[in-house]
Amino acid sequence: MKRLSSKKTISAFSPKNRPAYRIRLGERVLVESKDCFSGIVRSKATLFEDIPMEKVNPATGPIEIQGLAAGETLCVSIDRIKCGKRGVIVCSPELGILSKDVRKSRTKLVEIKANKAVFSDDLRIDLNPHVGVIGVSPAEGVLPTYYPGDHGGNMDTIEAREGSKVYLPVFVDDAMLAIGDLHAAMGDGEVCGTAIEVPGEVTLKLTKAEHLDLRRPMIETRTEWISYAAAKTLDEAARLATSDLVRFISNSRGIDFEEAYMLASAAASLKISQVVDPLMAAKMSISKRYL
Ligand code: CA
Ligand code: CA
Repeated sequence: MKRLSSKKTISAFSPKNRPAYRIRLGERVLVESKDCFSGIVRSKATLFEDIPMEKVNPATGPIEIQGLAAGETLCVSIDRIKCGKRGVIVCSPELGILSKDVRKSRTKLVEIKANKAVFSDDLRIDLNPHVGVIGVSPAEGVLPTYYPGDHGGNMDTIEAREGSKVYLPVFVDDAMLAIGDLHAAMGDGEVCGTAIEVPGEVTLKLTKAEHLDLRRPMIETRTEWISYAAAKTLDEAARLATSDLVRFISNSRGIDFEEAYMLASAAASLKISQVVDPLMAAKMSISKRYL
């Protein structure tokens, strides 16, 4: 299995990027990831304001996936996520949904021990390791890796975890995948703007999804299908995520829009991925037993 070093990273997704790695469709790879601050936060004295934006969310890649053409769908199977031993979380008056209430920036270093994040002396948080940034090149333009979008990117969605498959529409030949921003733990919303940010390693298998025609990312967990949409407002993200899942239900069950819409209302859950990135992101999930 190839090991893709985190020495080669991008700070923006763009069709102008040159590939850092080349792999073949169907290969398994181990991707190293720096933490979302490029590893420069080593003490609580380093505050968010001290970190240059170009150091935020380095994504390992781009990975040219030979055999995938624009218009097809990439399936990224996340086999394993190994978190580093120490994470970091920050809050700042420049970050998060309650930014105006933050009086002073704060940085917290968080040890990862025995499958828990040591948040404070008397509090340990259960881990839910997942990949924050997972995306492909857009058809045009330059999208910084802190942007989520139709190409994936800064998805910040907790279901992008071990055992899940992340499906991404491919906009340029060979997809040009990049991966970064691993989180040891995060709640839906990522309200303060950061999760327990860790370096680490992700083992992936990259295949083509033959029967999935997507406009935006979707995630398949062991038990659910999840649509995902990022937009300027949470309202619009919610509408797009709902529309995508209803279309998906309609196709997989072979039922018309109205029937699928009612099924979604009765059995699917609309949730927030995050409210802290330049675009808001919503998701909608349905159990596989209803499909
Ligand atoms: Ca993120
Ligand atoms: Ca992050």
